[in-house]
Amino acid sequence: MRPMPEAGARTYRGTPAAPGLAQGTLVFLEEPVAVEAAEGDPRAEDKRLRAAVAQAIGDLTGLLGTLDEETAGIIEFQIAMLEDDALIEPAVGLIAQGRAAAAAWQAVLGEQVADYEAAEDEYFRARAADLKDLRDRVLRGLSATSDTGPPGGTAVSGAMVLTGHDVTPSRFLETDWSRGGGLALRQGSPSSHVAMLARSRGIPMVVGLGDVELAKESAVLLDGSDGLLVVDPSAEDRRAFDARQEAARVQHEIEERYRSNPGVTRDGTAVAVMINVAKPEELEGLDPADCDGIGLVRSEFLFYRAAGLPDENVQYEAYRRILDWAEGRPVVIRTLDAGGDKPIAGLTAPEESNPFLGLRGLRLSLAHPEVFRIQLRALARAAVHGNLKIMLPMVTRPEEVSRARLLFSEVLAGLRAEGIACAEAPIGMMVEVPAAALAPELFAGADFFSIGSNDLTQYVTAAGRDIAAVANLNDPSHPAVLKLIGMLVTGADAMGKQVSLCGDAGGEPAHIPALLRCGLRSLSVAPMALGRTKAAIALTDLRA
Ligand code: PEP
Ligand code: MG
Repeated sequence: MRPMPEAGARTYRGTPAAPGLAQGTLVFLEEPVAVEAAEGDPRAEDKRLRAAVAQAIGDLTGLLGTLDEETAGIIEFQIAMLEDDALIEPAVGLIAQGRAAAAAWQAVLGEQVADYEAAEDEYFRARAADLKDLRDRVLRGLSATSDTGPPGGTAVSGAMVLTGHDVTPSRFLETDWSRGGGLALRQGSPSSHVAMLARSRGIPMVVGLGDVELAKESAVLLDGSDGLLVVDPSAEDRRAFDARQEAARVQHEIEERYRSNPGVTRDGTAVAVMINVAKPEELEGLDPADCDGIGLVRSEFLFYRAAGLPDENVQYEAYRRILDWAEGRPVVIRTLDAGGDKPIAGLTAPEESNPFLGLRGLRLSLAHPEVFRIQLRALARAAVHGNLKIMLPMVTRPEEVSRARLLFSEVLAGLRAEGIACAEAPIGMMVEVPAAALAPELFAGADFFSIGSNDLTQYVTAAGRDIAAVANLNDPSHPAVLKLIGMLVTGADAMGKQVSLCGDAGGEPAHIPALLRCGLRSLSVAPMALGRTKAAIALTDLRA
């Protein structure tokens, strides 16, 4: 347990949504704008509503130019919703019956927000924040109030820890995070758009604090890694927190000195260290020479779009961009791993009782060959531009690999017949299902193995990777998990196949010595973990 005060009167426990430590002043997010008039002249009110919606579209469009691709996708999603007549029409109907624009808009959007919040599917619940964002933006337009600056007119000079029920993506984007700060939400979800944004920008975030009593402008300490909020900390709490922040800073500085070194243990054993990326923007500012390639591209990033599934060209361009960055180093692109905690509207099954054991990963792709073929075509075309390897997620039986391979050869044949440049690529598999880890000899048809320790650990320990209450059981250093990894490495060696590990355990210094002792000589980690991974490797002596 970290040195934080025990959960008690002033310490509240929520769910971690984005890691890191922040201290600052508690600032309440704006409550929805109050609606004054209930009735109005239909023609004038209709015009006012349309003008406020147009203004909101204009404001959001103005925001677009400043954003990276993924973030822009969120805002584009909101713009598309505002442009959709289906959203506006019910309010227009109420206005025609005599309701004032603001009252009509609030009533209609309120209903839609409630529907989204009540949805079974986590994906739709998480989208409720987008709708609230649109509701409030248009309401502010109608009441001509401004939404810039700290919420509620609070004058805060240091870092802000924003609190409220939930936060909207545009509020997050408009907030100045340059002084640090974080988010402490009563509701919210670790898989909301805002949580994704917070993680990618290093803003600590805790969700699900519940109905706790919080006073505005209180001093707080926020621990996004453990999901804790300490309100009005004592001088001693502060000192301990300062010390943790300082220790984290110094540690990071030391580890970063290893970033551009090759991965080598104290006894001189070479260990390849590659990186995992979730989207091409993460590569900006990174030097490819600091890694031995990309061991995992989570291609899901392309599928989180409001505009529907990505077409072949969108995918091809993205894969090509990643291959160009790698300058000939290996790039392992994993085919779509949707399902489980990564639902994709219109594709994944909405009501599985246990989505982690359901139609996810390769199972889903094989169930939707029309979607899978498009991704395989884009990959075959991109393979011309670098050292591309294709990786299949959630493989359980060897036939799944053969079916994917067959589809890939059909796709190649089709592209060649059309005269489109394309190339073969090795096809490997994630080893994250215990059935595959226990019997690697069945998978001679895969060209390489990469251990997904995140899923493998949750399946071996029967402790969900996203359930805070069993986080202590979900431990990749459990002897059973390590035993399985060791057996797999031995099996892969006997088959002459390369084996790597691309789960989060590979970037955790506490787990690295044990993983290397299992025989692993290749790890793939988050870019921000490159320095600390190489430092931990350098400190490991495999003779000891
Ligand atoms: C894993 O399961 O370890 C893995 C790398 O895949 P993901 O975290 O994307 O499920
Ligand atoms: Mg996985």
